[in-house]
Parts: sequence; C-alpha cells; structure tokens
Amino acid sequence: MDLKGVHFLLTYRCDSECDHCFVWGSPSATGVMKFKDILTILSEAKKLNTVDYISVEGGEPFLFYPIAMKTMREAVKLGFRVELLSNCYWATSVEDAVEWLLPVAETGNTELSLSTDLFHADSWEMEEFRNAVKAAKKLGISVAILSVKYPRSKVPCPSEIEGTEVGLSELMYRGRATSKLLEKADKKSWTELTECPYEDLANPERVHVDPYGHVHVCQGISIGNALQQPFSKIIKTYDPFSHPIISRLVKGGPVSLVKEFDLSHGMLYADGCHLCYDCRLLLRNQFPNALAPEQMYGEGER
Ligand code: SF4
Repeated sequence: MDLKGVHFLLTYRCDSECDHCFVWGSPSATGVMKFKDILTILSEAKKLNTVDYISVEGGEPFLFYPIAMKTMREAVKLGFRVELLSNCYWATSVEDAVEWLLPVAETGNTELSLSTDLFHADSWEMEEFRNAVKAAKKLGISVAILSVKYPRSKVPCPSEIEGTEVGLSELMYRGRATSKLLEKADKKSWTELTECPYEDLANPERVHVDPYGHVHVCQGISIGNALQQPFSKIIKTYDPFSHPIISRLVKGGPVSLVKEFDLSHGMLYADGCHLCYDCRLLLRNQFPNALAPEQMYGEGER
C-alpha cells in the first residue's frame, strides 16, 4: 500500500448530530483517542516513509482541543503536513476565533478544512463559519471549505465564500444518511452498483484510525487494530484479496457482497455506499473484527 495520509478520528463525539454523518457523530457518542496512542501511531506512520500528511478530525476534534493541538504540533514536528477539520462551533466572533486558531497558526504547516452546508445549519454560510474563515485569514492559515450536496435543495451552494472556493462533495449514503435521508434520494437498480464509487480499496492512499485502534480503509471496514499490532505492520502486510469484505468489493463492488454471501436485498438503492452499508450491517455478526466498531454502525442509535 502506497499510503500518503493517516486520518485520526480523534473522537466520535460531536456537538452536532447531522443527518449525513457517516461516523454517527453526536453529543452522546463515545470514544476518544488517548494521546499516548496517537504518539505511537504517528511514529509508526513516520517509519513507513510514504506518509506525507496527517488529518485530525472526528466527530468534532475541537471538543478535545488540547489533544487536537498537541497532535497537530507533534505531527508537524515529525515533518508531516497537517489538516485539521472542524464544523466551527467555537467561532462565536472573529476576535474569539483568532484566539482559538493562534496555536494552529503557530505550527506553520496546518490547513484548516471547515464544514458548512445545509446539514450543519439552515443556510450554506452560518455565522460561526464566516467568523472562522475571517480569523484564519487574519492569521495566514490556509483554509479549505467542505460542503456536501443537499438533496433537492432549492438554494444553490455558493461557488465561493469569503474569497475561497467551496469544495462541494456528493452526499454518500452510509452511516446516519441511510436512516435519515433515503426518502429524498433518487434511486438506481442494485445491479448497477458494481464498483466502489469513492475509495481505491486495492491500493488506498489514506486510512482512518479511530479511538479503539481500528484502521479503516472506508469508515467501518477495518484492516487491523493499531492498539494490538504495529500500525506500520498493518499497512505493510495489507492484502485486499485476503480480506473477507474488501476482496469482494474490489472484485465487483457492492453487488459482489450480495452475490457471494447470498444476502437478501431490495431492488433500488441511492448509491453504491447504500448497498454496501446495508450488506455490511447483515454481515457484522459474521465478521466482527473486519466490520467495526459498533459506533460506525449506529448501534445504540438505530
Ligand atoms: S461502496 Fe462501500 S467501501 Fe466504497 S466508499 Fe461506499 S461504503 Fe465505502
């Protein structure tokens, strides 16, 4: 695996509970990374000699602000470029947002990725978001804007906000979106869903690591546990064709999961992720280590 990025899911907890969240983030979600585990995984990532960036995300990483800042500083010290994701709940004014972002500016090698869309608020540009962008610009921090398409929205997403281009992504029907947003989705026949639309599962360039050590190639599909064996070993020995779920997805997308495990299914699905996620829910008991943890499957909330 030619790994370029390691995404730390610092926590599953979030101040918000968005309908499209594929990690089921919420104020009651459990799971927070410990800093000693972060340090171990950072040094393991360094050993690989292929990783050039670290992403600090969640949930909402600013809920565990000192640990998010420490992670960012350690990563920069090790020579990684850092991305820090947030929904900007903390940016109550430009002046206060500057205070929150000073430690980010001081690293000199961190990009802020800020979310704003109709899942996070009633408008595409909520006030906290604008405050955060203005504060970041004052401090010379580079900013990327992340928005997700909202089904059947009558108000179009702006192409730029505060002079920065908006990166508009497709809505992916996995996680909470499969229980909240299906009614609004256009559907297609399940037989068309013969490939994974978003991830290069045969040769992933990034993985996510969560508070329980799971190393995910897509959220909820684990290839090993970095708290039980060295992260570098998990990456170096990755074999998509020996993994019970990934081998099928690589061969023929979500349709292969249905066929090879003889799973019951509907006729119409919102996208490949929707069929993939439904199949994984049916296979969770059979493959508890590969399809983990329960947070990714909304257990406790469904
Ligand atoms: S099809 Fe499955 S593996 Fe691919 S991006 Fe969607 S949920 Fe992830």
